[in-house]
Amino acid sequence: MTTTLIRGGLVITAAEETHADVLIDGGRIVALADHAAELPWNADQVIDATGKYVIPGGVDAHTHMEMPFGGTYASDTFETGTRAAAWGGTTTIVDFAIQSVGSGLREGLDAWHAKAEGNCAIDYGFHMILADVNEHSLKEMDALVGEGVTSFKLFMAYPGVFYSDDGKILRAMQHAAGNGGLIMMHAENGIAIDVLVEQAVAAGRTDPRHHGEVRKALLEAEATHRAIQLARVAGSPLYVVHVSATEAVAEITRARDLGLPVFGETCPQYLFLSTDNLAEPDFEGAKYVCSTPLRPAEHQDALWRSLRTDDLSVVSTDHCPFCFTGQKELGRGDFSKIPNGMPGVENRMDLLHQAVVEGRISRRRWIEIACAAPARMFGLYPRKGTIAPGADADIVLYDPHAEQVMSAETHHMNVDYSAYEGRRTTGRVHTVLSRGELVIDGRRYVGHAGHGRYQPRGTCQYLG
Ligand SMILES: [Zn+2]
Repeated sequence: MTTTLIRGGLVITAAEETHADVLIDGGRIVALADHAAELPWNADQVIDATGKYVIPGGVDAHTHMEMPFGGTYASDTFETGTRAAAWGGTTTIVDFAIQSVGSGLREGLDAWHAKAEGNCAIDYGFHMILADVNEHSLKEMDALVGEGVTSFKLFMAYPGVFYSDDGKILRAMQHAAGNGGLIMMHAENGIAIDVLVEQAVAAGRTDPRHHGEVRKALLEAEATHRAIQLARVAGSPLYVVHVSATEAVAEITRARDLGLPVFGETCPQYLFLSTDNLAEPDFEGAKYVCSTPLRPAEHQDALWRSLRTDDLSVVSTDHCPFCFTGQKELGRGDFSKIPNGMPGVENRMDLLHQAVVEGRISRRRWIEIACAAPARMFGLYPRKGTIAPGADADIVLYDPHAEQVMSAETHHMNVDYSAYEGRRTTGRVHTVLSRGELVIDGRRYVGHAGHGRYQPRGTCQYLG
């Protein structure tokens, strides 16, 4: 194994900022030392980080590579999606393996291992989607926790597909309370939403913007409230995914004020985009169809505030791209047939850095919500999410002054549009290391499919 020294940068973690040199040996960080004129150590390779931030690689705890949805598949494979993630400064993803109705968790997990194995440019782990809660799948949860799949997503939305009723949710929560698993919830009242969808389509309200109108903020808030109460009854922790509505944030804040183990995640699309995008003409709004939906811009302030106060703890992408041509177009004339999901795995670190530039969050909070907190939440810390002796050498050299314009012309995600087309941001990834190996070297991709390794995870580190 070779040793690498990263010299002269500003090391930023969730806890501190220091002008330090970082020594890497055998894929791990072995030491940090105050930056000095003399080389503090001999190393095989020296990387000059002068003028750059040296930050932990991003941890994106919510991606859906190759996900089947509505008769098609998310357009990024594990190969293309993890390469794009690396370009954007993310070095670990936690993707969602899916249990099919009528099958066990094991078959679903095996299928996702087969998709990812040998194809990833960066490290990866799995959550498990529980689509069919029954005696067998509940028992299987215990085995999965033992092998590092420690979080389980349930859906209060999508009746007939992923939906679980309150009884099934309660059973899964009770089980998680016993085995240390973390229940992740898609909190929208899907039964009520489906009624509104049917009524909207019947009345000819078929444009993409109606996707946002039927999936009401109140129905997100109601489901969030219900999920919290069910978790309290079961005695289990709860992680609410992709929170987008002020009213839903309020439910999470109230629970946290009571000291309950309730956590919330939001995504860049809810922080930077709005129903104005969904209303773009000529069916362009379809590019922004995802669930929970984009909200009116007024909701953004509550999300930013909650990120500052830690009422929301994590920013993940929910990366689930579908091409506009041929995939999003499946819903022309009927918004309910538009595949739900948006690209973003490559954009998250930059968009959140832009929030630093604009004074919405501090640099350390940027690293916390994008690297450290997701690593802690999902049992990967301090191997991932920080720069400290013993941690994996997943490190990004970030140029805080570089200007860029986001565009489908230049991004690396396998999707024919950018949700942030034409947006100017300050700051850009320069170099990326994954376990000490260069993946991006001064804006050149030098990684390879198969470098990324499966990461078994421990249980949530915010508990007990
Ligand atoms: Zn998702």
